[in-house]
Amino acid sequence: MSARAETLQQILHKPSLIHLQGRNPQPLFISTLLHGNETTGFYALQKLLQYYQRAGLPRSISIFIGNIKAAQGGVRRLDEQVDYNRVWPGTAQHYLAEAHMMQRVTDIMRQKNVWASIDIHNNTGKNPHYACINKTQQDFLSLATLFSEVLVFFTTPKGVQSGAFAEICPAVTLECGLSGDELGTEHVLQYLHRVLALDELSHCAKANRKIFHTVARVKIPEGYSFGFDDDATINLLAEIENYNFREMPSGITLATIEPQSKAYLQAFDDDEREVGRDFFEYQDNKIMLKKTVMPAMLTMNTQVIRQDCLCYLMERISIPV
Ligand SMILES: [Zn+2]
Repeated sequence: MSARAETLQQILHKPSLIHLQGRNPQPLFISTLLHGNETTGFYALQKLLQYYQRAGLPRSISIFIGNIKAAQGGVRRLDEQVDYNRVWPGTAQHYLAEAHMMQRVTDIMRQKNVWASIDIHNNTGKNPHYACINKTQQDFLSLATLFSEVLVFFTTPKGVQSGAFAEICPAVTLECGLSGDELGTEHVLQYLHRVLALDELSHCAKANRKIFHTVARVKIPEGYSFGFDDDATINLLAEIENYNFREMPSGITLATIEPQSKAYLQAFDDDEREVGRDFFEYQDNKIMLKKTVMPAMLTMNTQVIRQDCLCYLMERISIPV
């Protein structure tokens, strides 16, 4: 119970599903370390279990500890691995061994009549703590709003944990800022305490609640080098991550490109159609924003940009409370 995320590999040997009995038998499912370098959920769970060691849990919990090999290396995933948050039921890669494992975990939790599901992540840019949902039903909103007033509704990418569990119970993905930040661990811990104390997900409307819908995912095409220092083919705006959850005005220069390179950015909508033309325009070796948008998960971590994406683009939606 005091293990470090980097040493879990020696203790558990592989991804593990752990069931703990509580007074209410209908379990809360919690997954963590689907990305090996996102440790906030793991350390919050450690503290949670230490707290309930004597008194006993108010509700049963089932914990899935995901990519412990990547955790050992302190990376999101190893180069030869698939992304552990893209192979849950609903994924296009359902033939993979990892997808079979996630299917099995989901089936077990369905059989256990899972009550709610929480998947805990970190990100690398400057982002507020926010909660993501894949359905906008009231119980999903309640579970999410207990964590943050900033909510993101999304339906792609497919194969994410919260998307799979949304088919069987209220489900949420928590984005808890930078991994290793004590405040993030404390926030998740308090949230888990609050959720565990609930008998049901009662209506919990907050006046300040803001819900954003992701409309596109921005990628840098594989063939181009990129960076922030003016020495690559695509040179991104250095202060780009300051724009997370802030309106980015049309006309702003996102990047400069090497002359004659014809380099460009890609944007994919919910149906995986390339819709870059709707968002970007090109002039004088610059890539500029064509319309005002609100980005999320903008990061300056080049490995994350390559393995995942540059950012998501969102628009605000309103749902009656
Ligand atoms: Zn993650």
